[in-house]
Amino acid sequence: MSTDYYSLLGVERDASPEEIKKAYRQLARKYHPDVSHEPNAEDKFKEVNAAYEVLSDAEKRAMYDRYGAEGPPGFGGFDFGDMRDPFDIFAEVFGNLGGFGGFGRSGRAGPRRGNDLRTSLEITFEEAAFGAEKDIEVRRQELCSVCDGSGAEPGTSPETCPECRGTGQTRQVQHTLLGSFVNITTCPRCQGKGTVVKSPCEECHGSGRVYANRHIEVNVPAGVDDGITIRVSGQGEPGELGGPKGNLYITLSVKPHEYFKRRGTDIILEMQINVAQAALGDTVTVPTLDGDREISVPAGTQSGAIFRLRGLGVPQLRGGGRGDQLVVIQVAIPKRLTDEQKELFYNLGLTLGTEVVVEDKQSFVDRVRDALGL
Ligand SMILES: [Zn+2]
Ligand SMILES: [Zn+2]
Repeated sequence: MSTDYYSLLGVERDASPEEIKKAYRQLARKYHPDVSHEPNAEDKFKEVNAAYEVLSDAEKRAMYDRYGAEGPPGFGGFDFGDMRDPFDIFAEVFGNLGGFGGFGRSGRAGPRRGNDLRTSLEITFEEAAFGAEKDIEVRRQELCSVCDGSGAEPGTSPETCPECRGTGQTRQVQHTLLGSFVNITTCPRCQGKGTVVKSPCEECHGSGRVYANRHIEVNVPAGVDDGITIRVSGQGEPGELGGPKGNLYITLSVKPHEYFKRRGTDIILEMQINVAQAALGDTVTVPTLDGDREISVPAGTQSGAIFRLRGLGVPQLRGGGRGDQLVVIQVAIPKRLTDEQKELFYNLGLTLGTEVVVEDKQSFVDRVRDALGL
């Protein structure tokens, strides 16, 4: 095993503590036996940790500079056997800093993203089409503002957990006939935080968290539809051990409109005209999301005829224009007639002649046959 600790870490003899720590972090990541593909990674990892153990401690470093790895006469040297467990050193340096979570020995507590929140929001047909700024209220966990989430009474601060020495985990070596096993568990004293609170914050009783009702401005984009879920990043609950906040997910429900219906980006409006308008033609006023428009219904318009108003539908959610409004014509047959109207229809019938009526009946029979597959 090499005993030139400076060259092991690849730093100059006059390297600052920051440079030593930086070099250690790089090498420890490289040789950590859980991820390294280097040959002899475990031995390298131990050497690097031994070097860091000595050079990161001002007193030990001074002794090493003066006497070398053997130490002063009678000291017995920086014996590897006296060194702390390399994984403890590693956990101390990387432990609560984040950025190195995700792998490791089981039980290692790392930063965790906060919980996501889900809620629903009812919006109008017009808000779905054109977007809206909405204010919603959510009840969520937040970091306690009195203690800034530390859980410690203001003026005091959490202390390094004596059980795990701040690593958030406990290691127990078990010797068996098959070899030694290391059991690693989340520290029961601090639940993996690495710190314990001696005098808990009164506001949050030491948990560092409180529940709060919050008003959140939600930007509903133009073109959303019923059932769509939008995400508001970072408005969920706080993360654990420095992890990022969760997200807020809002599922939209669109209130039905009095007379507009929607099919994708198209808006459908059923509109009644009377038999005289259908037969003779007329200009009729049509409501749209953009105000009234006039369409000219030609003479002889049938029930079910569709008129398309281009670009008056709903905007596409990710830009790129609007759909159309489709006006579906229903020709209304009057249910009650005055005597005068009855006479007019009777005379109208006479002028239309029986031939036309028979033809209509025939086509009706054909349609019924088609529908029944005869
Ligand atoms: Zn508090
Ligand atoms: Zn602990």
